[in-house]
Amino acid sequence: MSRYAQRVKLFLCPKNVMKKFGLALVAIGLLSQCTKTEKSMQEEDASKPLAFDVRFIDTTVSPCDDFYHYAIGNWMKDNPVPGTESRWSSFNILAKENRDKLEGIIQDLSNEKKKHEKGSDGQLISDLYRSFMDTVTREEVGTKAIQPMLKSVIDVSDMDGLASLLGNFSTMGISGPMGMYVSRDAKNSEQYITYVGQSGLTLPDREYYLSQEQKFVDIRANYVAHMNKMFELSGMKGDGVGSLILNLETDLARIQWDRTKMREPELTYNKVGRTSFVGSFRNLRLATYIDQLKLAAFDTLIVRQPDYFTQLDELLSSRSLEVWKQYMQWKVVDAFGPACNQSLEDEHFNFFSRQLRGIQEPKPRNERGVQLVDGELGEPLGKFFVKKYFPEESKAYMEELIENLRSAYKIRINELTWMGDSTKERALKKLAAFTYKIGYPVKWKDYSSIDIQAGTLVQNLVNCNVYHFRDMADKLGKPVDKDEWYMTPQTVNAYYSSSGNEVVFPAGILQPPFFHPTFDDAINYGGIGAVIGHEFTHGFDDKGSKSDWDGNLNDWWTSDDRSRFDVLTGRLADQFSSYEPLPGMHINGQMTLGENIADLGGLTLAYLALEKKIGGGMVQPIDGFTWQQRFFLGWANVWKQNITEDELRNRLITDYHSPGEHRVLGPLANLPQFQDAFGCTGKPMVKPEAEMIRIW
Ligand SMILES: [Zn+2]
Repeated sequence: MSRYAQRVKLFLCPKNVMKKFGLALVAIGLLSQCTKTEKSMQEEDASKPLAFDVRFIDTTVSPCDDFYHYAIGNWMKDNPVPGTESRWSSFNILAKENRDKLEGIIQDLSNEKKKHEKGSDGQLISDLYRSFMDTVTREEVGTKAIQPMLKSVIDVSDMDGLASLLGNFSTMGISGPMGMYVSRDAKNSEQYITYVGQSGLTLPDREYYLSQEQKFVDIRANYVAHMNKMFELSGMKGDGVGSLILNLETDLARIQWDRTKMREPELTYNKVGRTSFVGSFRNLRLATYIDQLKLAAFDTLIVRQPDYFTQLDELLSSRSLEVWKQYMQWKVVDAFGPACNQSLEDEHFNFFSRQLRGIQEPKPRNERGVQLVDGELGEPLGKFFVKKYFPEESKAYMEELIENLRSAYKIRINELTWMGDSTKERALKKLAAFTYKIGYPVKWKDYSSIDIQAGTLVQNLVNCNVYHFRDMADKLGKPVDKDEWYMTPQTVNAYYSSSGNEVVFPAGILQPPFFHPTFDDAINYGGIGAVIGHEFTHGFDDKGSKSDWDGNLNDWWTSDDRSRFDVLTGRLADQFSSYEPLPGMHINGQMTLGENIADLGGLTLAYLALEKKIGGGMVQPIDGFTWQQRFFLGWANVWKQNITEDELRNRLITDYHSPGEHRVLGPLANLPQFQDAFGCTGKPMVKPEAEMIRIW
């Protein structure tokens, strides 16, 4: 999986996305032991899994009062968050099952009698896994593994030296206050261009530095103690370093843009000449920095947050070089310390997992080893995964579903009362231009150049990072690779890319509870069908709608239609902002707007597509539920989850998606189809019809 800021919209937060290469991406929850109840044991028969288990339903709750707790309330009671997790949901369960499959693949490769050829998939996978599992060698080497990196920080003696270090470190996956990367040009999707953006925070969001709420004051105190401890365990003087670094990161947080502002595609697209941009700073030695990245020649670049760089330039001189060096030492220790020995790993876990996210204990080492290999060598591992586990028949079913969703979208656009004819015509043009990918890439990336050796974990991680950086950066000046995937096939997720105007569904999500060829249509349409509709709708959400059929940022709307759209989406933002999942903490309706539009659109479209498919035909109820009811039960089943309070707090600040519960309650309140299915007119679950928001 690419870790760079791709212009893609995910169905949920990306897993395994690391704050590498200086990009402000969010690392999120990973998974562990499956606490299977008797009920889910029933789903073990892979040839005919249960489409929806009625024992998940809590009949003490009325579907018209609270459909979420009605549909999956019993599941929630039976499935608390395991100690190794911060969240337990359909996604976690499925990802855990996928990891078990991946572990089997890794074990088979490791046990092969024949020696793997250097650079082959088998060699890379088995040796990376081995280097993670070999804790004896790791303890022997200890922090010696990061000494050369720390020494290169100590050797810095001036601002040019610092710029050179920042550039070099960014290719190794050690982030600093800015990140430069190569991606498709948002205004010309036929070419790659260089982007530069803000970066460098270690806590999950700027809010963690700036909020005066007691919870965040406490987190900052713990963070300072954590940094001091990590320095000490790395054999350096830790006293007082933590608070210096916290102060510096707080200054960075102050000048950084927040997540809502970052969603504005026009604001973050500022094309400038390289020479004039580089020449506009006194302390930021960008020429030296860029040299280290070894990019192909370029004349222009896109600056994501222009005023950030002006202020960073001032900040560079207002703090001593010594403080910047301590900060960069911290970045080294944070990135690779946990790979050096057990005590650093434990301390890292204690702060980032236990204190920040409410995880009680680490997953077993073998499971974390699989996660590591999956994160670093996702495509090589994915090749084996799809060969063994992806039924090719799923592709045909998905193609039919996707086309049915496209037809439904066409009907909806034509029927819209708030949109004028000329905008409709262009919306239909964009819809017709959508392309899709299913399962896995038609062509695989070549990983053979990565040097991986058993027994050198830190070096292996650095080498993987350098590979991923070069894979991204070396695209500059080359034709756009339209076959590239931004997710690995085994990922339980999906995405829409506005530059490609394409929707992508990895093999990992084409499994129960989202989809199975033996499920009734209602469950498949309420699951994967709504996921497809969700991704399609990203092309028409508040952000995606600003790009055209060729994937270029380009206004194709009349101003009247845009105003009417903004009024509708503003109402949806208000609806979500009114939810308060934690006392005193509301959903950020603006930040999550694109995802909430996509959920509402996705459900509307999937329902219509299902209705068309069934036609006037009779469908027998299953377990006493009509197909209309099962459609919504299918959607709730996808979003079943339990979550720790710390993780929920983290996500309310960092996740562009609403919590699972509100991904069910929020859209359903606006759907007359839901109201009719369960007879909920006038009940708390639904709004009065005149107030229901209908966008797509
Ligand atoms: Zn999405």
